[in-house]
Amino acid sequence: MRYSMINEAAARKLDSEDVLAHVRERFVIPDGTIYLDGNSLGLLTHAAQERVQQTVTQEWGQDLITSWNAHQWIDLPLRVGDRIGQLIGAATGQVVCCDSISVNLTKALVAALSVQTARGQRRHKVISTVDNFPTDLYMVQGLQDLLGKGNCELQLVEEKELNSTLTDDVSILMVTEVNFRTGRRLPIAELTRLAHENNILVIVDLAHSAGAMPVCLDEWQVDFAVGCTYKYLNGGPGAPAFVYAAERHHATMQQPLRGWMGHAKPFEFSNDYQPAAGIRQFLAGTPPVTAMVAVEGALTAFDHVDLKDVRDKSLRLARLFHDLLHDAGLTQMLQCIAPEQEAQRGSQLAYAFEHAYGLCQALIERGVIADFRAPNYIRFGFTPLYTSYHEIWLAVQIIRDVIATEDHLDPRWQQRNAVT
Ligand SMILES: *Cc1c(COP(=O)(O)O)cnc(C)c1O
Repeated sequence: MRYSMINEAAARKLDSEDVLAHVRERFVIPDGTIYLDGNSLGLLTHAAQERVQQTVTQEWGQDLITSWNAHQWIDLPLRVGDRIGQLIGAATGQVVCCDSISVNLTKALVAALSVQTARGQRRHKVISTVDNFPTDLYMVQGLQDLLGKGNCELQLVEEKELNSTLTDDVSILMVTEVNFRTGRRLPIAELTRLAHENNILVIVDLAHSAGAMPVCLDEWQVDFAVGCTYKYLNGGPGAPAFVYAAERHHATMQQPLRGWMGHAKPFEFSNDYQPAAGIRQFLAGTPPVTAMVAVEGALTAFDHVDLKDVRDKSLRLARLFHDLLHDAGLTQMLQCIAPEQEAQRGSQLAYAFEHAYGLCQALIERGVIADFRAPNYIRFGFTPLYTSYHEIWLAVQIIRDVIATEDHLDPRWQQRNAVT
């Protein structure tokens, strides 16, 4: 259903009927800011702020080393992992919080290859998509160089060709559920079913899914997954990521970064590596405690929140945004690159526009935070826990105003910042 001719009062009415409206209070929202970039860095929660303060002043400042036991720092990676698991359809003991997506993906890739070897499969092909997030592809390329193409060989295909490439010479299908540029969402359940018919293992990157929509890893029978916590999970800049390994692989998988925290008995300081049972073996080094308590605090923003409501509101916010742009006569100039069908979309909309960078900068100056992705896209992220319908209405007024005054063509925007 299209939103037509929504005025300010009508946008406010949508907020008054929103079941998630109260969740916004859990966030620190800077004055005068309409934040449409939660798909890059989620907002700070009051809970994370308090947890970090408490950890720094009391646990670190006063209790020091005793805090590993007294405040259960040592259990953080698994405890936070299990809480994330609830948001991605994973039963306990299959998710651990650690490192970055890049590092966790390397661990998952080698672990999946080791499972294939243990099954007696002599396969080396890793299929991924040409426009996957670059770091994901770099990690496979690195392994390809390290292990040799006979053991790991990356093959890139278009998203729409995936089904036909899942043949019985493929070892691993490695995909990102929601494309970071176009916002296209892949049918993970279906791809996993097809892959498994040919004994292919599936690794999914949930960077733009976790916290943005329901994810059902166990139900979909995904083998391994990775994701970050600084986007829709609001864990903070550079917050530790997570990795999921399905329980059925725990006995055979071998993770290559054999750190002491993944050892069965780290405090015996033995020279022989014995992996811990279960997902704990995915740990390598000491957890970044101050960063991880921020994640733990931030995750409380999801308490009593149904991800179906999150998905529902995300689609509504995006639809309202696009329909208002349309009503303002701007959808010729700004070409939406998201799939037509909502079911195939993530929680963002990206538009191709010749002056996308200038538009993005001019909007930031007026308090509307979006982001730019090369070569010429402007992305708007919709984060239902804290974005209101009224803000969407206001944002579109401001976009219209920038374009009407040609502020986006200002010569100041010729120079690009280091981070776009
Ligand atoms: C944001 C993002 C990443 C980031 O990886 P890090 O190693 O955690 O910095 C990886 N993959 C995708 C699809 C992303 O969107």
